[in-house]
Amino acid sequence: MTRTFKLVNARLATGEKSSITVEAGVITSIGENAKSDVTEIDLKGKLVTPSFVDLHTHLREPGKENAETVASGTRAAVRGGFGAIYAMPNTNPVADTAGVVEQVHSLGLEEGRCDVIPIGAVTRGQEGKQLAEILAMAHSRAGVRVFSDDGNCVSDPLLMRRALEYVKIFDGVIAQHAQDPELTKDAQMNEGIISSRLGLKGWPAVAEEAIIARDVLLADHVGSKLHICHLSTAGSVEIVRWAKARGIHVTAEVTPHHLLLTDELASTFDPIYKVNPPLRTERDVHALRDGVADGTIDIIATDHAPHPLESKECEWPAAAFGMIGLESAFAIAYRALVKSGSLSLQSLVAAMTTKPAVIGSLSDRMSGLTVGAPASLNVIDLEKEWVIDRDRVESKSSNTPFHGLQVEGAVESVLFRGEWVMRDGAILR
Ligand SMILES: [Zn+2]
Repeated sequence: MTRTFKLVNARLATGEKSSITVEAGVITSIGENAKSDVTEIDLKGKLVTPSFVDLHTHLREPGKENAETVASGTRAAVRGGFGAIYAMPNTNPVADTAGVVEQVHSLGLEEGRCDVIPIGAVTRGQEGKQLAEILAMAHSRAGVRVFSDDGNCVSDPLLMRRALEYVKIFDGVIAQHAQDPELTKDAQMNEGIISSRLGLKGWPAVAEEAIIARDVLLADHVGSKLHICHLSTAGSVEIVRWAKARGIHVTAEVTPHHLLLTDELASTFDPIYKVNPPLRTERDVHALRDGVADGTIDIIATDHAPHPLESKECEWPAAAFGMIGLESAFAIAYRALVKSGSLSLQSLVAAMTTKPAVIGSLSDRMSGLTVGAPASLNVIDLEKEWVIDRDRVESKSSNTPFHGLQVEGAVESVLFRGEWVMRDGAILR
């Protein structure tokens, strides 16, 4: 592989045609007058984006390697066009010490096909009782900046306040899984007409909204940064909109599945649709899309949650919560937001690249398509139609709710720091 090459006939998300020169892993010029007399690769008008950044991935290693490993999860990431994924700490052991986050970090470096950035637990064992070693994780080789008890909510307001105070020291962020545990005991799906018809215990919107309301006020009080994981209700969007208008440092994410699917799918009793937070109503889906469109919701994050077959092939109440999502994320978000007319392609790309990089303190490595930035980018065929197939995924798990769905927009090639890690659909590393 030549170390210097030029991508020609590239389409940028803004619609302009451009050329991009890559030398020794770095973008050295962009534009029509880009340096010539080097190897040219003709992209034939395909879209070029910076590498995607996922602030919310579950890799399951250490401890649940039958569901996913750093190796399989990073392959799924590359397939989806992700150059950086943030690994949630609900592993076994929980990533609540410098030792565990350094282990996850080095496993990612060994695989070397994308960045694996550990998220540290907020509380020991994610039990919500005592703070974890937040400063030790921040100062470890993994340099953790994002902390979350995802899967569990930091429901104790005093612990949440202390955690926000700690991360303020190094300009970190607490990513809250907003779910009041008392309001959601044994909850199985969204609380509404369908849950009562099906006889499944409901999960009220207020269980999410009450925690978000409390936490934006705490973040304001402490003057610290708060990130809200996987917003799922119209009311949550309203609260975050209000908080941003007040100047509170809050950011928010939404998953591709919450932008497309509704709680009516629970009528199938197929636990493939069982997820936390639950799929909500059509009204919520539209409010979430509007929230992305007006910038209330900053980013798209996958909440890629692999589970082995036996955890999903059972009765609904016994099944695990969660869906895989890395490999289909762009196509689903493109359909839900851009094809629906809610959002421009340029804004979708920002919501999957530079904006999550800023929230995760990764702007130095993921600064977008700019001269001097590491050459980590995707080549995407927007016109290409493909069918999501659970039997052809890189993930070790196959729990996608989109099996059989025809979508548009295929990530074809992926460049990571100047090296092709996927080329024309074939993963090379
Ligand atoms: Zn969560």
